Amino acid sequence: DQLTAGRPANPFGPETLTRIFAVASGKGGVGKSTVTANLAAGFAARGYSVGLIDADIHGFSIPGLLGVDQAPTRMEGMILPPVAHGIKLISIGMFLDTDQPVAWRGPMLHRALEQFVTDVYWGDLDLLFIDLPPGTGDIAISAAQLLPPAELLVVTTPQHAAAQVAARAGQLSTQTQQPVAGVIENMAAMTLPDGTVLDLFGSGGGQQVSERLTEALETPVSLLGSVPLDPVLRADGDAGEPTMLAHPDSPAATALDQVVTAL
Ligand code: ADP
Repeated sequence: DQLTAGRPANPFGPETLTRIFAVASGKGGVGKSTVTANLAAGFAARGYSVGLIDADIHGFSIPGLLGVDQAPTRMEGMILPPVAHGIKLISIGMFLDTDQPVAWRGPMLHRALEQFVTDVYWGDLDLLFIDLPPGTGDIAISAAQLLPPAELLVVTTPQHAAAQVAARAGQLSTQTQQPVAGVIENMAAMTLPDGTVLDLFGSGGGQQVSERLTEALETPVSLLGSVPLDPVLRADGDAGEPTMLAHPDSPAATALDQVVTAL
């Protein structure tokens, strides 16, 4: 193929032995990146070899969530990804000056993602996570083209309005012909120390997305878990520590561990 001559082959093409999860959400702020970082950490803690591509190019947050501030090194034309908490990771944030906004259009975004796939020395991975940007834009489509074996994980809050947008993001999989591995509800009800239940974002959104996708895709799409609102999850994220490792007995980590088991 003339076009790809001289370029390294895509290690995550149709024949790959790596299980790939692309994590999607309908909108921002639902905890998609937090969930992605923690699932990756959970699998790494179980002894799997795990990679993570931060494809949320405009709103990257993975380096902060995993406490990485070093730039990737290069060797023989390849990029060596930093390793944090047992996860090899790459993010556009590692190539930019702090606070510099990313004002790129589709083709550049596609090219950046392509480089993350082919120019990074991933080695043999058991699992690769892709933190997609929210919604159904250019990157989600590029990711599907570059990583055809990827399975989609859809993150939503329990709120009905949020669930509707999340279901739409999940339905992108019909166009890209990717399977949906399941739905994860985040920011679900938390139990306060006095025993009262605080359901800030209502309830039922995760179940709703799973039902809608089951119907739209004509195949069962299950709700893999419901992760409660948990200040510990927020604080650990701010500190660059996956809660799965820092506070494995916290309510959020317990729920996320069930998702790891379900996958
Ligand atoms: P997204 O990737 O969907 O934009 P983030 O993962 O960046 O969302 O999360 C947004 C904010 O919400 C972060 O400050 C994060 O720490 C916090 N957060 C995510 N999930 C929870 C949760 N279950 N409980 C408390 N805070 C959460």
